[in-house]
Amino acid sequence: MIKNRFQYLAPKSVEEAASLLAQSPADTEVIGGGTWVVVEMTAGDRDPRRVIDLKNAGLRYVREEGGAVVIGARATYTDVIRSAAAQKIPALVAMCTGITGGAQLRNRATIAGSVCYANPSADAHGLLVGLGATFNLRTAAGTRQVAAADFYRGPFDTVLQAGELLESISIPVPVGMRQGYYKFKVAESSWPICTGTSLVGADGSVTVTIGAANSRPVTVTGSASDLDGLARAAEAAITSPFSDVLADGEYRKQIAGAIAKRAVKAAV
Ligand SMILES: Cc1cc2nc3c(=O)[nH]c(=O)nc-3n(C[C@H](O)[C@H](O)[C@H](O)COP(=O)(O)OP(=O)(O)OC[C@H]3O[C@@H](n4cnc5c(N)ncnc54)[C@H](O)[C@@H]3O)c2cc1C
Repeated sequence: MIKNRFQYLAPKSVEEAASLLAQSPADTEVIGGGTWVVVEMTAGDRDPRRVIDLKNAGLRYVREEGGAVVIGARATYTDVIRSAAAQKIPALVAMCTGITGGAQLRNRATIAGSVCYANPSADAHGLLVGLGATFNLRTAAGTRQVAAADFYRGPFDTVLQAGELLESISIPVPVGMRQGYYKFKVAESSWPICTGTSLVGADGSVTVTIGAANSRPVTVTGSASDLDGLARAAEAAITSPFSDVLADGEYRKQIAGAIAKRAVKAAV
């Protein structure tokens, strides 16, 4: 049970949500699916005076727009898995399907919530950086776009400013490239301890983004004909390894090369 009292707001549009947030950003919490923030409020770790629930703000959509799949901030993992648009990016569907916590979590939690919370050991960050996603951010004053690669500053730290909402995520549909997503976790019920997202061109050129191992995702390039070289590059790219209860950072660094290879194999 949440012990502290707060004002609950459920705006009817993203403009209204941004305007409400602008009134008092410091003591307002935005809720997507609430799978993280409500747990923290129940535990007493967060004590907002106001809560803005995005459920009625018209942000629950997954659609194709101009060669990209656009995911509204209130779309759940299940919405993405079931959408026709997302089938054009199998690596995205694989990521969403592999989220642990069962159907109950996937039916409620949003990718946008994971992005804003920015726990380095989440699935979404490496995939979104690897696929060249753009985050569409909104304030009461207007909108701006930030590349996923520039969004994450470090563990639980992003460029999202006070009073700013993540409105949607745009992921370009990869053209002429195979794509793969590989996630390594220690138990069926655990979060990932290292992920790999690959794009493989017809000429054998390879790009792999390693997630959940470093304080922010890292990207390396190489060739499908030299997977050992790619693996060495992936390990070397882990310069600020992330540790948590699941795994030590050094372990994550040591397996990054193997995960890079598996991500390429997942694509081809
Ligand atoms: C049992 C369990 C298993 C899990 N397993 C995995 C796993 O395998 N892999 C994985 O990656 N994750 C996993 N997670 C984490 C899960 O992915 C996140 O809890 C979820 O994606 C957060 O989304 P949400 O919509 O519920 O966020 P919320 O709890 O609503 O919000 C999270 C944070 O983001 C902010 N926020 C939310 N939406 C916006 C927005 N549009 N604009 C600005 N700020 C916003 C909130 O203010 C809050 O600070 C698991 C969680 C649980 C509880």
